[in-house]
Amino acid sequence: MMRLVSPRRWSIRTKSVALFVGYVVAFAAVYGAFSVHLLRRETVAANDRLQQTARMVAADVNAHVRVGLQRLATVAHLPGLVFGLRTMGEKGTGGHIPAWTTLHYIFFRSPVLTGGVFLLDGSGTVVWTEPPGLSWVGQDLSDYAPLADVYLHGVDVISGRLEADRLTPKPHAVLATTIRSPNGERVGVLAGVIDLTAPQLTTILQAASTEQGRFVSVRDTDGAEIMATERPRHADASDPPLLATVPLADVPWHVVAGQSRAIALADIHRLQLMLLWIGALIALGALAVGIFTVRRFVSAINTLTRNAQVMAGGDLSQPVLVQERFDEIGTLGRTFEQMRVELQRSHAALTHRLEERDELMRLKEEFLANVSHELRTPLNVIMGYTDMLLEQDGAVERRSVLEGVRAQSEHLFSLVCDLMTLSGLNSGKIVVEYGHVNVADLVGRVRQLVERLGRDRDISVVWADDSAVPDMRSDGRRLEQMLTNLVTNAFKFTPYGTITISVGHDIARDMIVFAVADTGIGIPAHEIPHIFDEFRQVDGSMSRGYGGIGLGLALVHRLTTLLQGELSVVSKVNEGSCFSVAIPRCPRAEHAAPEVRSRQAG
Ligand code: ADP
Repeated sequence: MMRLVSPRRWSIRTKSVALFVGYVVAFAAVYGAFSVHLLRRETVAANDRLQQTARMVAADVNAHVRVGLQRLATVAHLPGLVFGLRTMGEKGTGGHIPAWTTLHYIFFRSPVLTGGVFLLDGSGTVVWTEPPGLSWVGQDLSDYAPLADVYLHGVDVISGRLEADRLTPKPHAVLATTIRSPNGERVGVLAGVIDLTAPQLTTILQAASTEQGRFVSVRDTDGAEIMATERPRHADASDPPLLATVPLADVPWHVVAGQSRAIALADIHRLQLMLLWIGALIALGALAVGIFTVRRFVSAINTLTRNAQVMAGGDLSQPVLVQERFDEIGTLGRTFEQMRVELQRSHAALTHRLEERDELMRLKEEFLANVSHELRTPLNVIMGYTDMLLEQDGAVERRSVLEGVRAQSEHLFSLVCDLMTLSGLNSGKIVVEYGHVNVADLVGRVRQLVERLGRDRDISVVWADDSAVPDMRSDGRRLEQMLTNLVTNAFKFTPYGTITISVGHDIARDMIVFAVADTGIGIPAHEIPHIFDEFRQVDGSMSRGYGGIGLGLALVHRLTTLLQGELSVVSKVNEGSCFSVAIPRCPRAEHAAPEVRSRQAG
């Protein structure tokens, strides 16, 4: 089954073809409607012209025949004629017909009755002819069909076309009128013959134009042709002519004017053909131009699409080439090229900056590692010497000074250790050294630190370590480093109050949970997401009231991840903070966490 695709999904080519087909259909519709309209108009105009011709001819023929009829009627009413006929009828002879000159006069004065005039008595015998002595004299014409109605019904007769008969060998028509006595009795018939070939009548028809396939004919009531102009030769059944019919006013004939339809509408047909050609040429022209334009358009779009795809694939080295165009496509192409150049430039700048950054990072790590190493060695020596001096007996003051030196050295030592750990973490040199960790021992070491930090401080420390906390498998050194940082922070950011340190076993998850809570200054909520960043401090100004370099929590976070643990913090400004670290008692796999490794790789 064919599936219809929405026009919105059509390609430009399909849309163009649809547009062209639409144009052709629209043209055909307009052309068809226009042609039909023109044909109708021209047919009506041609019919009007034919009607006019038919009216003109009908008026002339009518006038011509009417004259003949009037002549017959005038003579039929002559009293002498009636009298003569009656007396002839009564006595058989001796009837007196008016002087022949009267009829002769009528005959000559009437150009209508060109075939002659004849007088019949009441029984249908020709008693007299004009011109005199025609062969009809003495003939009994009572059975002559054209006169039958006169004798049967006493009405005037105008016949249709009659071919050669006993009256005349030429085509003719007969007019006849009844001669009645003053008391209405029919005493005879006066008839006239119209010679249809006589020039008087034919000239009327010939006056009508027969150019351009026109013809005129006079027909009787039965439609039989009485006379006609010559028909155009090429007329055939496939070209039915246009016809206009007009009846004669006084004669039961009608005139038919006709014209070959093909000739009458020839101009329109020529115009139609011309329009068709023009339309077809325009369509062909549009098709040729359209194909050329659409091809160029589509090929330019395709080129741009290919270029865009190459760019999207990350290759910015290929220039965007759209042939020399100055239209919208050209502008688009040039804009694309500008974009490519700009992207290439930005890409180069970015790559350069990244390289610079990587180099700087490398230098920083190198520097950190070197400086820390260089600092730690003499510090170790200083601390060693201080210990040696402290082991010897000495004055109390000297001992207190030495203890001060020792404390500061330790602080410095722990700072340097943190720096080295961070450097190691960043360079990927630090690996977890898994081993058995005695949690109680670990807590014991933290207790020593707490005691030292809490000396001379208005802080009470609460221990909530569970003696039943089991041992674990982890990196004891790193755990101690994390706890040291959390505890040091708690003391640093708690001017007075309580610090609670707890260690417990989350049996459900089999994790050892270390928590350090204080009632110190707390951390604003919006800062919490950032405090684990390297060198980040809530108050980083030089005038801040707390020391530190913003490294402790970053290390705690990185080490927790490394040990597959979880770190959380809850804090409220001026109420205190609580940091908890949960570390698996038995790590899933004894290797570095994935994110740390990826960082190392980067
Ligand atoms: P610092 O060397 O400044 O202590 P840290 O990374 O350990 O660096 O801590 C980062 C910042 O987090 C600290 O500067 C401090 O603003 C805040 N912070 C850490 N621990 C606490 C705490 N227990 N109470 C309040 N603020 C703390």
